[in-house]
Amino acid sequence: MKPFNHVDAKTVKQAVTLLKKNKGKAKLIAGGTDLLSTLKDKILPDYPVTLINIKTIPKLNQITDDGTGVTIGALAKLEALAHSPVVQQSYKILGEAAEAVATPQIRRMGTIGGNLCQDVRCWYYRYPHSVGGRILCYLKGGKGCYALTRENEYHSIFGGWRDADPPCSSACPAGIDIPSYISKIREGNLTEAARTLVETNPLPSITGRVCPHFCEQECNRGDFDESVSIRDIERFMGDYILDTPDEIIKSPEADSGKRVAIVGSGPAGLSASHYLAKLGHSVTLFEALPKPGGMMRIGIPDYRLPKAILDAQIKQIRQLGVDIKLNIRIESIDGLFEQGYDAVFLALGAHGIAKLGIKGEGLPGVRDGMSLLKAVNAGEKVSLGDRAAVIGGGNTAIDSARTALRLGTKEVTVFYRRTRAEMPAGEDEIEEALAEGVRLNFMAAPIEIDGDDSRLKLTCNRMELGEPDASGRRRPLPIKGSEFHQEFDTIITAIGQYPDIPSQFGLMTSREHALAVDSATQATDRPGVWAGGDVVTGPATVIEAIASGRKAAAAMDVYLRGKPQAEDKDEKPAQPFLTFNSDYLKKTSRITVPKRPVAERSIAVEDNAGLGFSEIEAEASRCFNCSCVSVSPSDTGVVLLALGAQVQIAGPGGTRTFPIEDFFGSLRTNLTADEMVTHIQVPRPPDGARQTYLKFRLRESVDFPIVSVASVITIKDGICQDARIVLGAVGPAPVRAIEAEKTLIGRAIDNGQATAAAKAALEDAVPLGKNSYKVAIARELVRRAILTPESFGEMR
Ligand code: FAD
Repeated sequence: MKPFNHVDAKTVKQAVTLLKKNKGKAKLIAGGTDLLSTLKDKILPDYPVTLINIKTIPKLNQITDDGTGVTIGALAKLEALAHSPVVQQSYKILGEAAEAVATPQIRRMGTIGGNLCQDVRCWYYRYPHSVGGRILCYLKGGKGCYALTRENEYHSIFGGWRDADPPCSSACPAGIDIPSYISKIREGNLTEAARTLVETNPLPSITGRVCPHFCEQECNRGDFDESVSIRDIERFMGDYILDTPDEIIKSPEADSGKRVAIVGSGPAGLSASHYLAKLGHSVTLFEALPKPGGMMRIGIPDYRLPKAILDAQIKQIRQLGVDIKLNIRIESIDGLFEQGYDAVFLALGAHGIAKLGIKGEGLPGVRDGMSLLKAVNAGEKVSLGDRAAVIGGGNTAIDSARTALRLGTKEVTVFYRRTRAEMPAGEDEIEEALAEGVRLNFMAAPIEIDGDDSRLKLTCNRMELGEPDASGRRRPLPIKGSEFHQEFDTIITAIGQYPDIPSQFGLMTSREHALAVDSATQATDRPGVWAGGDVVTGPATVIEAIASGRKAAAAMDVYLRGKPQAEDKDEKPAQPFLTFNSDYLKKTSRITVPKRPVAERSIAVEDNAGLGFSEIEAEASRCFNCSCVSVSPSDTGVVLLALGAQVQIAGPGGTRTFPIEDFFGSLRTNLTADEMVTHIQVPRPPDGARQTYLKFRLRESVDFPIVSVASVITIKDGICQDARIVLGAVGPAPVRAIEAEKTLIGRAIDNGQATAAAKAALEDAVPLGKNSYKVAIARELVRRAILTPESFGEMR
């Protein structure tokens, strides 16, 4: 075991203060039965720096009954509960549940607080295995949950719980909550799905068309059959939002009285504008060009991103009150502050054009890819002759090559000095270019261009790859005597862009030409000035620019208000379980998007048609909704929920008490790292209420439940007045069977009624591949818990 600090807390306040001081790096220890073995077997991804012993806090083990209910200190031992006369007399199922926990030795050490707070249980979670190994586990920091698609005999039959960001969201630079919005599509709630999406991405109909979909590369479904077509789902949602914006995009908050200047109308500038305007700031966006959109307008061709879509997205941002001023090139930041702006966001992109630096580069017939795309995107007529060469391997090179073919050039060859694996252009675009007839000539670097108006001779060296360079890619080196040449009508250079920052800005740069920013806030070295997008990263992607705009907007808002926005925190409602469906586990292919036949592709019409709702719905049903499907093993938790207990928690801000439903619903989301359970209050059940606790396990002592059921049923004059029925070990938290309760209340209880209630209790169960046997066990336990042992005996 690794060494750790050990502190004996004398008071609750001291324990909470220590938790706060350790910022999530401390753990409480009371009985120690769960934690010590976890630490010893190196199960947790993070090892705590400090253990705070709370056994030393006096009076936290008391059990006191005031006639209306019992208050139990979190440090009360399970054995004490099992043998407490008060408990045995009025809360008998609590004693039975405490008695059912593991072995006598564990019951002598274990506390009720520890039993409630113990980690969820999963046969694989206890596996001491390093992160991302053979047995994948979210709780241990892995990319997925092994139990979701493989062994899941003992796991949840009521859905999962998200303990960590799913891999698709983690891979998305904007951190879009992809599974949440896809779940809402599955539920048929497109409005909510759209709202979730625009929380992190204000331009989804654009990214739904051009994003390199980093998310799909990490999708766990990819290891099962094929990854979910997330980008196509996003495109559908993006277009849906364009059709119904008023329902989805909420109006800005009250005017903050602050003015923000944004320079550059590409995705970074538009994203920052969207979020700042929504936060109530007055936003003016300055753009040097006659039309807004940055590279999305002048770089990305119409056949991939129609201008009508870009225009519609920009219109939405204007409708938030953003004032876009065109044809204004900002040369000085001082000038903006002099005009009264309170903060500035720089989103200038990367519009400097890298030169080849070889002889003949200035010849007529040699042009750069950006100027070609810009001209074509502006609707100018361009002719490149019959044979064109494109030099480069990025987006500009591939878009230039595809554009050249569509302009009527018969033969287009891309020369790239590395291999296909190192090409920065998107894989989809390279595939399409090849399908359209673009030739790729790898390991070739131009060294000279000769020629006249009618013909250009391109001389190249053949290359080989050496050691990795600063970019991490292997450095191409010329092979001696390997020169070759080919003749072309046009040579298009597209070897890269770089940020072109006005010298008067006077800001710190991180490396050649890029602005240096604080990665957490996008702040530059000048107070009041932020930057994002390509001007910071160099040429990157739309989604990265969007993400930086949102991050900067949040930091700028704090600066402008002088403090963070008040959050509506504290008692958030209990987190519902994440639903999954058993259809997940059938192998299916991802949806294919209809593409325009190559022969029909043109310069101005979009190549890919979108998908319809039924197709999107089918694709959404392939999403695993990746989550942890382990179960809450707490014996006492099930019983306390049936008894309607309240949990008292102490934190830096004092104490709070809430129903145990909320405690379980928020245990792993809202209980912050500096809070601890101090007491449990259990109201006295009505006299004569029938209490039952049943636990199905593999071995009589030791084991956690496979399924457990607790019930408290009040019957008067033969009619059920009230019923609380709770199932354990079937979900990430104890599950209250509300539908079963409704079936009983107001009716006489007999076998038929109990069977109907048992059926209702399991109606929403969604067993995984191998745990459907739990449904049958749970149903039978509920039936037995409703009937008296005597009547149950008669009926067998
Ligand atoms: P930009 O989009 O470049 O916008 C910057 C804006 O600032 C420009 O409009 C510029 O005119 C303006 N500006 C600059 N200086 C000033 C100034 N001083 N005053 C006023 N205005 C100024 N990404 C993808 O994700 N998928 C793709 O398929 C894809 N394809 C691409 C194809 C091409 C040909 C190109 C060139 C890029 C492609 N990209 C793609 C990359 C993507 O377009 C960029 O990463 C993204 O647009 C960067 O956003 P930005 O807001 O930082 O800058």
